[in-house]
Amino acid sequence: MIDMLKTNGRESMPQAGVAGQFMKALKQGLLPVYYLSTIAFRKWLRRRLAEKGRAPLSVLMYHHVSRDCPASWCTALGAFRRHVAWLQRHCTVLSLAQVQESLLYGRWASRPAAAITFDDGYADNLRALADLLEAGIPFTYFVTVENIRTGKPFEHDLAQGYRFRPNTPAEIRALAEAGADIGSHGWTHAEFHRLSPGELSRQLDSSKKWLEDLIGQPVRAVSVPFGRPEHVTPAVILAARRAGYKIVCSAYGGYNLPFRHPFHILRFAGDNCLWRLRNRLTVDPRLLRRTLTQYMPIDAEWDPDAVVGPRPREVIPGPRESLSSSSLPILPLCQDHRISCSWSRINGEEAGTPFTHIDGISDSRL
Ligand SMILES: [Zn+2]
Repeated sequence: MIDMLKTNGRESMPQAGVAGQFMKALKQGLLPVYYLSTIAFRKWLRRRLAEKGRAPLSVLMYHHVSRDCPASWCTALGAFRRHVAWLQRHCTVLSLAQVQESLLYGRWASRPAAAITFDDGYADNLRALADLLEAGIPFTYFVTVENIRTGKPFEHDLAQGYRFRPNTPAEIRALAEAGADIGSHGWTHAEFHRLSPGELSRQLDSSKKWLEDLIGQPVRAVSVPFGRPEHVTPAVILAARRAGYKIVCSAYGGYNLPFRHPFHILRFAGDNCLWRLRNRLTVDPRLLRRTLTQYMPIDAEWDPDAVVGPRPREVIPGPRESLSSSSLPILPLCQDHRISCSWSRINGEEAGTPFTHIDGISDSRL
């Protein structure tokens, strides 16, 4: 939806005038050149971070996926299928819960890791969702309850002259039964940071309870409507936690870095450009640097055991390569994500590289 235009990085923002359009087209045209000329450095950078359990994790956010792709925030079904095919060939696709586990414990893997999410809840998405379900690819589907419940098109679509049909409650129930992870996108598509504490609590509590009653399963995650930094305030994070959510997703782009804030998941907008997807998921050093300035500090009240269970005390044995190619994408590296750990815990070697915290990364080390 409009979130994508409003919230997802400079390249998604509408640019005014001919000069702006020209610069946007130029940047898009140069993206393959930038990607291909830096691919060797990216591989080295990702391998270096992965060896320390700090490989970034990417989470993609789509909105409206349809055959005709009528609006600028839509993704064409053909483009979406190309994205998924590329992900299957080059990445490990995780669920949101697995992303969170990786953020808590670190991970070692030779392939980039990514998760797929959708916001709002459009009926046109069903074809794309069926593809994912048939392929066994996990995804989280965030829906706005009021539109699902009433069938009324989204205000942001009506404002642009579109009347896309939202999903029905029966469709959401069927998706959950088929294996989709259903999340909340609020009761209404409100700007959470503008609500009173009572209104915010009702948005979070009511949508969670309504969806759980509908699908008969826990609703663990919420994506904040619009999702820009000004919308994802500490008060919103705290209210979401009090409402019982385990994950809050924003929408302003950025990587998710192990040992940083595991409650707040950052997401990149998925659009029609496969080059942009490749560029992001293979660790763009410019985006990584920008991410490091966006992260919230770890919350002292955060208790990971309450979310993903007790931390594993046993490290998975085996040579590095077998671990990296394992079908199990999560490797618990740390007994405590706030204290140091090293390669020696993995393979018994003395020459492991100790690390303490992702804060140890600085621009000079990239
Ligand atoms: Zn939205």
